Amino acid sequence: MDQKFPYYSISTEEALKKLQSDREGLTEEEARRRHKEYGPNELTGKEGINPFVLFLNQFKDFLILVLVLAAGVAWYADHMVDVYVIFGVILFNAVLGFFQEYRAEKAIQALKSMLKQETKVLRDGRIRTLEARELVPGDVVVLEEGDSVPADARLVRGKNLQTIEASLTGESLPIEKNTEPLEENTNLGDRLNMLWKGTHVARGSAKAVVTAIGGDTELGKISHSLGSIKATATNFRKKTERLAKQMAVISVATSAVVFILGYFVRNYAFEEVLLITVATLVSSIPEGLPAVITIVLAIGANRMVRQNAITREFSATEMLGSVSVILTDKTGTLTKSILTVSKVFLGDGSELEVSGTGYTPEGELTQNGENINPADNKVLQQLLLIAKVCNNAHFGAPKRGEDGKTGEPEVTGDPTEVALLVLAKKAEAKQENLLPEVQVIDDLPFNSEQKYRATLAEVAGQRELLVVGAPEKILSLSTRILTQEGPQVLTNELRQRVQDKNDEWADKAMRVLGLAYREADGIQDEAKTDHVQELIWVGITGIVDPPRSGVQQAVSDCKTAGIRVMMVTGDHKKTGTAIARQVGILDPDETEEIFPLALQEDELESPENVFEDLVDNVSVFTRVSPNTKLRIAEHLQSKGHLVAMTGDGVNDAPALKRADVGIAMGIRGTDVAKDASQIVLSDDNFATIVRAIREGRIVFQNVRQTSFFLLTTNFAFVAVFIITMLLGWPFPLTATQILWVNLVTDGVMELGLATERGHGEIMKRAPVPRDASILDKGVVPYLLLMSVVMLGLTLAVFSYYLPQGENLARTGVFIVISMTQVFNTFNMRSLEYSVFEIGIFSNRYVNIAFVVSVALQLLVIYTPLLSGVFRFKELPILDLLIIILLSSLVVWVAEAYKWFIRKKQL
Ligand code: ADP
Ligand code: MG
Repeated sequence: MDQKFPYYSISTEEALKKLQSDREGLTEEEARRRHKEYGPNELTGKEGINPFVLFLNQFKDFLILVLVLAAGVAWYADHMVDVYVIFGVILFNAVLGFFQEYRAEKAIQALKSMLKQETKVLRDGRIRTLEARELVPGDVVVLEEGDSVPADARLVRGKNLQTIEASLTGESLPIEKNTEPLEENTNLGDRLNMLWKGTHVARGSAKAVVTAIGGDTELGKISHSLGSIKATATNFRKKTERLAKQMAVISVATSAVVFILGYFVRNYAFEEVLLITVATLVSSIPEGLPAVITIVLAIGANRMVRQNAITREFSATEMLGSVSVILTDKTGTLTKSILTVSKVFLGDGSELEVSGTGYTPEGELTQNGENINPADNKVLQQLLLIAKVCNNAHFGAPKRGEDGKTGEPEVTGDPTEVALLVLAKKAEAKQENLLPEVQVIDDLPFNSEQKYRATLAEVAGQRELLVVGAPEKILSLSTRILTQEGPQVLTNELRQRVQDKNDEWADKAMRVLGLAYREADGIQDEAKTDHVQELIWVGITGIVDPPRSGVQQAVSDCKTAGIRVMMVTGDHKKTGTAIARQVGILDPDETEEIFPLALQEDELESPENVFEDLVDNVSVFTRVSPNTKLRIAEHLQSKGHLVAMTGDGVNDAPALKRADVGIAMGIRGTDVAKDASQIVLSDDNFATIVRAIREGRIVFQNVRQTSFFLLTTNFAFVAVFIITMLLGWPFPLTATQILWVNLVTDGVMELGLATERGHGEIMKRAPVPRDASILDKGVVPYLLLMSVVMLGLTLAVFSYYLPQGENLARTGVFIVISMTQVFNTFNMRSLEYSVFEIGIFSNRYVNIAFVVSVALQLLVIYTPLLSGVFRFKELPILDLLIIILLSSLVVWVAEAYKWFIRKKQL
């Protein structure tokens, strides 16, 4: 197959022939063969990480430069051992940095592979949903509004088709497509019979034959890697940059003090002081921080994936922690989304019950408890016909369970439409040939602005326009009503009767749909919204869609977590209110006082009410159009809220983009909505959002705790140096010892901290304010505590051993300093909770880091070669144990502090 051929220059039939395909698509077998030949439909880019390059990158660091400088100084001062040690430290640091980054990269890759794109394709004459990477040239794909185009394809059939090609050509207006062949020299942007990978269907539907896949597509030619995870300058980036600056300032300032004291006040030898200063500087610069932050984010994002929330933009993970309002839709997110028609109310005033749940087309139609025969009921037949035809849901083969038995059929399509199709199938299963032969001519898909959908069809030789939508909308477009005797005038009385029934059902949390039709002899091959008028009213269906289990809990969790939950739905006010009560967005007995409980879009603008006040005080918004969604979000943002918003349709894209965290529905959502969002919910479930928010808060917590750890240990360390110099003592550690303690001990320990989980009350607090700094005054008590303990112990140990020689004294101090730092990790696992309360062993990685870190220290002290290099002196084991025990004082003091603040809070 020639993927470069200008397929736009030949007719549809010729293109199909040339691609050895036809309108029914390829066979599975042929597709498999081609997949082998042409490979996957993927953009190959710099997907894999090259470990070698990653390792070399570690040496590009500013820190390394400083270290090399230090080695130069050591060499100049003729401390050759120090030179070797410094190079050893450089190497170790590179290895550690490599592992940190490798881990982060791996996590990012794992996330990317989660973002699979699915597409509908004709194989063996049936529509199947496949992963887009499975497509081969010659495949016939089926696209509808909101889908993204999975490969380059020649249009075979299009209906009202418009695509958005901004991602490829920069043209932001939708482009109308048709099947006419074009000149061979037509520009890319003007090839109106082609669809391009990476663009979107804005309107209408299409059938198209794939002409090029993967790297051979136009998109593939211009971009060799399409990163699905976007890196944008975000709030969080700003915060971490500020953090890095703060830490750098602290470390430079304290190192400068060390130098000034050492050289000018105490008059140590220049090289000596310089070396120590460089060592303290290197130690206190938080060089590991960026990598640690990436790891924290990556771990958070991966935990979210396990909770069914897929992150498309890394920083959204952290942003979620600050969410203070969630704007959620109703159908499918708060509810189960297995919609079932349970009641039908016909134009002639009869009310029917429908039994059966789920998608299995088995159930009875009854009236007053008695089975009815649809064949005797003209109005019911017409309603079933509309339900069946005005629909874009499909039944596939029944899913086969693990035991080999067939289960529920696989269905695709909007759940509302599936419910209607299932209703029709239930009736048809009882009686064959119940409904006449129908040929669909054109389709206007549902759109949340219009709130209806329509299908133009040839019904038993008669052209009809079949319409389904929100009842009041359909009612307003109807002029007549269908009865057993045929259409009659739709009087106000009859309208009222429908309204009353609608309200009655909506109060019971049912989703109500109106069904209508008209004769359409005059309409040619294209249905337009103008045609949807003078309809003949047929009836309404009441659809039950119970709340998901767990949603009520999630809503109440939000309340304790200081997050406001607002429902923004296109559904009826009463339905919305009823569901809001069921899930707890409204309290069960809440009544209207100053503000109404729920509002409809047209009530937002009234003389007695100000839009802004309403948004601030009302939590249920119904019959809302996407544009109003956007306005609500904007107002909340202007009030300083951080807004998370859910959406699924094409029209939701602007609001999703505008929200701080756009959340698209993975199952129900269109590709357009997903592409505009930062988070995709693979289960469409509201409770998942709340779990993701929890993870977001943990991310912030872990970044904060890790940076507190770095700051407290570094600060205490430098404080020790400054004080001992002021006292006029020898340096308590040599430069190489300093480097080892700080780069090795800290480097290992902070990795453990990055994996900490949330504790107890993380969802009982208010959201992290939008512009909260990572470092705040909460660090001060820990800073003092850590400095006092480390300093006290160092002075005691140093003065105790000094009479026995500097080397032994330094060995003691080395253990004090490294062990207090190691123990401090346990303090930083939670800034409020006792480490015994959260479980000393509950963070495996901290424990591993603990063991590794201690082992490395013993290694340098007790192996003759290394202890020679570092100039350590063997310390009696009993002394060692006593010093370690004393170092654990950091934990006891911190525990006392935590106990004290908790006491005060009570
Ligand atoms: P939501 O998803 O928030 O419940 P929508 O904007 O999707 O609201 O739907 C608004 C109204 O439009 C629904 O109450 C229903 O009456 C009607 N409707 C929804 N989906 C469809 C559809 N696929 N076909 C016809 N009518 C629909
Ligand atoms: Mg919807």
